Amino acid sequence: MSRLRIAVIGTGTMGSQALWQLSQQDCDVVGYELYQPGHARGAAAGENRVFNFIELEDLRVLPMTDRADQLYRRLEEDSGVELRDLQGVLAIGEESAEPTQIALETARKYPDRFQVLSNAETRAKYPKFNIHDNEIAIFDKEGGIIFPDRTIQAASALAVENGAILHTEARVASIEQRDGKVYVTNTDQEVETFDRVVVAAGAWTGQLLPSMDKYFAMRRLISTWFRPKFRETMEGLPAYVRTEPNYSYGLPSPDGTALKVGLGFKNHLAIASPDSSEYTLSDADLLPLRNLVRDLFPSLGDYPSRFTVCHESYTKSRIEWVQPHPEMSNVLVMAGFSGKGFKNSPALGEIGARWALGLPTEPHAEFLFELDHLPFEETEAVAQG
Ligand SMILES: Cc1cc2nc3c(=O)[nH]c(=O)nc-3n(C[C@H](O)[C@H](O)[C@H](O)COP(=O)(O)OP(=O)(O)OC[C@H]3O[C@@H](n4cnc5c(N)ncnc54)[C@H](O)[C@@H]3O)c2cc1C
Repeated sequence: MSRLRIAVIGTGTMGSQALWQLSQQDCDVVGYELYQPGHARGAAAGENRVFNFIELEDLRVLPMTDRADQLYRRLEEDSGVELRDLQGVLAIGEESAEPTQIALETARKYPDRFQVLSNAETRAKYPKFNIHDNEIAIFDKEGGIIFPDRTIQAASALAVENGAILHTEARVASIEQRDGKVYVTNTDQEVETFDRVVVAAGAWTGQLLPSMDKYFAMRRLISTWFRPKFRETMEGLPAYVRTEPNYSYGLPSPDGTALKVGLGFKNHLAIASPDSSEYTLSDADLLPLRNLVRDLFPSLGDYPSRFTVCHESYTKSRIEWVQPHPEMSNVLVMAGFSGKGFKNSPALGEIGARWALGLPTEPHAEFLFELDHLPFEETEAVAQG
């Protein structure tokens, strides 16, 4: 039997991991990337990402995070690049709320990994957070920060070192399956033929695969960096995720001079595609972030010292789409990572690679293939707030 020919379309967060995994196997693998690995227009822009073991939504994800942790270590070893800085992450939430209850269940399962703090303990230990009366916190001792652009660059470069072909600044225009083969056409009308294709096109997925657009809501996300006020410092401000009253997260910048802050789905602008997204931000765009900082971080100045935008795809359930294309059985679509896909991306890339090679689905990935994803109502996909 001839070697499998596999394409990975989009080598951002997920695609670069799938490419790296496939490059280690006995197959011919070709990647297509609209820009360059680690570029600023996709879902991975903005300096850093939270890596946390604490789960706030779905306990089925826990084994995937363990696998991702192993693969980050392997990628670090193979590339010699530092990809994470694991100094802990604080999860803050209202004690009675569902995400906090899920987080507490995670903490009960792995007591050594977490420190559960009462309202009074959180206030005493983290005085720089204006913790509300009904909030508690869980410190995730083994969590921390991921450097996303380095991660994508390392996975892509290792894949090429291992023999993968990577076409950069190359846009795939269409994908078509006929008689068991998949035809990938670029914008110069050049066609390549593959046995299997993994599409990991992020917020461009609906544009590349129009019949799947209804399953994804594309959003523009804003990241903002806030610096300490005069005579204040960043000490006592670890990375955090807070689920109520309004989802937010923050990460100290690698140079230790500012806290990067972002909000959740309700605050993101609906877009058709990153190609037509607005990169300029108005003061009105920044206001929800400034209001959060005024309330939660009295020691930080309340106008950002810098900001950036990036783009993400969401599913209705907020659980990622990792399943074959409904009409093209040889095409796996990986999209809709709904604002939380980076930490698990090495494990997700491995899941995509195993599918492409025809290997059995591992138990930790089965639920992804069994989900019955619902389309968004047209009004929901474009609704604001
Ligand atoms: C602001 C922000 C903060 C986040 N914070 C966290 C966090 O703290 N922790 C966490 O775990 N997750 C976080 N996430 C989520 C995580 O970053 C995303 O879920 C993840 O990056 C999605 O990866 P992706 O591969 O789907 O998209 P991308 O990384 O955008 O990759 C898609 C790639 O496809 C390429 N492409 C698109 N169309 C084509 C085409 N036609 N031809 C060729 N190439 C194409 C694009 O150029 C791009 O490189 C955050 C997301 C955002 C936006």
